[in-house]
Amino acid sequence: MKLHGTMSVKEQTLHIGGVSCLELSEKYSTPLYVFDEELVRNNCREYVKYFKVNEYKNKVAYAGKAFLPMYMCKLIEEENLYLDVVSGGELYTAHKADFPMEKILFHGNNKTVEEIEMGIEWGVGIFVVDNFYELDLIEKICEKNQKTQNIYFRITPGIEAHTHDYIKTGQIDSKFGFALVNGDLYEAIEKLKDYKNIKLVGIHAHIGSQIFDVDPYIDTVDIMMNLVKEIKDKYNIEIKEVDLGGGIGVYYTKNDEPKTIKEFCESIIKRAEIICKSIGIKIPTLIIEPGRSIVANAGSTLYTIGSIKDIKDVRTYVSVDGGMTDNIRPSLYQAGYECAIINKIGQDKVNQVTVAGKCCESGDILITDTNIMEIESGDVIITTSTGAYGYSMASNYNKLQKPAVVSVINGESKLICKRQSYKDLLALEINE
Ligand code: PLP
Repeated sequence: MKLHGTMSVKEQTLHIGGVSCLELSEKYSTPLYVFDEELVRNNCREYVKYFKVNEYKNKVAYAGKAFLPMYMCKLIEEENLYLDVVSGGELYTAHKADFPMEKILFHGNNKTVEEIEMGIEWGVGIFVVDNFYELDLIEKICEKNQKTQNIYFRITPGIEAHTHDYIKTGQIDSKFGFALVNGDLYEAIEKLKDYKNIKLVGIHAHIGSQIFDVDPYIDTVDIMMNLVKEIKDKYNIEIKEVDLGGGIGVYYTKNDEPKTIKEFCESIIKRAEIICKSIGIKIPTLIIEPGRSIVANAGSTLYTIGSIKDIKDVRTYVSVDGGMTDNIRPSLYQAGYECAIINKIGQDKVNQVTVAGKCCESGDILITDTNIMEIESGDVIITTSTGAYGYSMASNYNKLQKPAVVSVINGESKLICKRQSYKDLLALEINE
């Protein structure tokens, strides 16, 4: 198992942020999400440094969908990041955490009237407008409230990238954004002439997730910069900001070989400089929206092992006290993870086991056929790199409670989200 961030081993026991995982499991019980705060902060700082936030006034907007307790809003504000939200709930979380509303980018392909009203009333910095319906709603709500709203248009650039594959599709078959090839974007720009309360300041594209290759970003930069020039030439509108979305890939297992934050940022900025020079435009402010690459490796989950079912010559199932309710990614996309017994680090891996969750679904498997040290019921197992799209995708299926979340740093642990109680599970139910 790869040790990430501040993970270290003392007397065969895994420590994160200087705190023993055994102590954490005893103090907070399991399942438990553990966040390495130093690693989250270091990742933010790498983005700020290499995306040239201070030098060029570029912006790094953390994609809240990856993991967004109020604690995280406060942390990213301290680290000088912007925030990308996609719902009224995420916006409300940021508002409650006193995150500056002008540093919010509001995404989503079907923002409701209520969400748009909330965003406009609270002074959200940018609406990333996805479609004609939304454009119209924003104009009407701004008119009613006598406000103006800065927007980006979300573009479907015809590039689709995931992990090792990337294709230039020219595709228009996406639920997101204005396509280039069928003229939708140009129609939206034309419409702006009639809208008095909307100001177009930028364009946005998001090409996929868990991307290891820089090339699709390079192509996206080229498309977006040419578009900036085209919009200036055709409509005399200056696009001041170009948002390239998120998607930068991370290590989950040894099959993954991600590039560093530095490599990604430097390649993007360098390409923007080259292309802008060659087509004769001023380099716009660049925005990037990382989610996974800020939090994935900083989060881990601790579980207690219960039943061990050894089916001779077939497989050994080791069941834990959580599963698809706290980590849906293996069931949803066959995502791989690494694991270890927290107080047996360094011991020989003598067993091959399948780590199963406790939900009533045969597909509730966290890791299939992994090599692990000697195990017994009661041992605490850790799965690493669960920081992104784990807690934020957690559910109450089978009425399992959402686990607690602790942040660890400098030898101290701090509870940032409580474990749900049985009472919490029934909080919305009416029992008359
Ligand atoms: N920006 C947008 C518009 C997205 O849809 C997403 C993820 O779906 C992200 C940013 C964050 O992507 P990632 O967590 O892969 O960096």
